[in-house]
Amino acid sequence: EYQVFEDAKWIIETLERNGHQAYFVGGSVRDYLMDKEISDVDITTSAVPDEVEQLFVKTLPIGKEHGTMIVMGENQQFEVTTFRKDGDYVDHRRPTSVQFVTDLYEDVARRDFTMNAIAMDKSYQLHDYFNGLNDIQSKIIKAVGTPIDRMEEDALRIMRGVRFQAQTGFALDHDTKDAMHQTAHSLNAIAIERIVVELKKMIQGQYIHDTKTTAHELEIFKYIPFFKEINQTSIFMPEHAHFNLWVAALCYLYELDLTSLNSLKISNQEKRDISSYVQLLISLSENNISKQDMIHLVYTYHRDKMKEIIHFISEHDAQLNISIHPTIMNDRVIDEIYDKLPIYDKSELQINGQILMSTFNKKGGPWIKDILNKVEQAVINLKVDNTENDLIEWVRENVKI
Ligand code: ATP
Ligand code: MG
Repeated sequence: EYQVFEDAKWIIETLERNGHQAYFVGGSVRDYLMDKEISDVDITTSAVPDEVEQLFVKTLPIGKEHGTMIVMGENQQFEVTTFRKDGDYVDHRRPTSVQFVTDLYEDVARRDFTMNAIAMDKSYQLHDYFNGLNDIQSKIIKAVGTPIDRMEEDALRIMRGVRFQAQTGFALDHDTKDAMHQTAHSLNAIAIERIVVELKKMIQGQYIHDTKTTAHELEIFKYIPFFKEINQTSIFMPEHAHFNLWVAALCYLYELDLTSLNSLKISNQEKRDISSYVQLLISLSENNISKQDMIHLVYTYHRDKMKEIIHFISEHDAQLNISIHPTIMNDRVIDEIYDKLPIYDKSELQINGQILMSTFNKKGGPWIKDILNKVEQAVINLKVDNTENDLIEWVRENVKI
């Protein structure tokens, strides 16, 4: 028995008591059969959204028009989706309409891969019309139905297939892979935001190493904004990296302007994060990094980011062409520097604009920022103690006002 399914059983029982069919389906069943940790449990049912709404105390109509309702439990929520078949696909994207159906078979037949098309009832009995379990056991990712049709309908499935490859290490079924290759150009029609969701999961996949070859063979990057600007024979796909770090490494390696990130339509926060990784890579690529430089970097980027990037560079030093100086660039040195930092932020300085203005009897202006920057550097470099008197003294001696 699996707690996640046990916790959701009451929903299936309620639906069945009221004359409907209901099953667990999709990622949770797949992950359960693969002995992986199960994320969210999805339920598929013959009940239409209005019926689901009436049967449960609290529901949220998150995607009512295409059949998806949230059913609230005591401290969990569950996605309950009506059996449906997809209407026509236009332009290789999501269907323009959906049609609710009464047959489980039709619902699983619209799903992308056989391993995602397995339904399981409340007693853990599988309803596996497309031999998904068999494919899981043979470690194969295989489209449901005719691969070329399924990829043509919705090109996002190409990305999902590649992403599942990276997560499972399974091989793509021959015809499925062929179809993905033939339809890769249709990725042009897919919203970049949806592609990025898959790329984020892909790059963190445990088997990303094998996916390098697959992605190259399928030529998917030719049709994805940002990535298409990069010479296709050489796209760097690191292991143990997250999306922002990957993108930063690409910007660094192929000297891409940060404005090219705009085509990824990611948030400003993500852009800032990527740009700081790029800066850090540039700084660390300089020759003869000194302990002093390290102190600056540790202060600016903080402990975790420094350790992360150093590990990343050590693992990919050949591709990045950056060499790590093992004596100053390691976790121990970073910890040591970090613990010894007298301040962690400019706001901790014991002087400020007010104090400077009254001490030097001068009106506010750009000189304040200038001095505070110099004071900050002096404090970090342990040239002066961070007390008001010492800082004022230091300013008098070292800065021309
Ligand atoms: P994850 O574990 O990352 O959530 P998942 O397979 O559960 O993977 P979801 O996006 O949560 O992915 O989708 C749930 C299910 O819906 C899938 O298992 C699959 O059956 C179906 N599905 C999702 N996207 C598509 C698609 N583009 N085409 C066909 N079926 C899809
Ligand atoms: Mg899911």
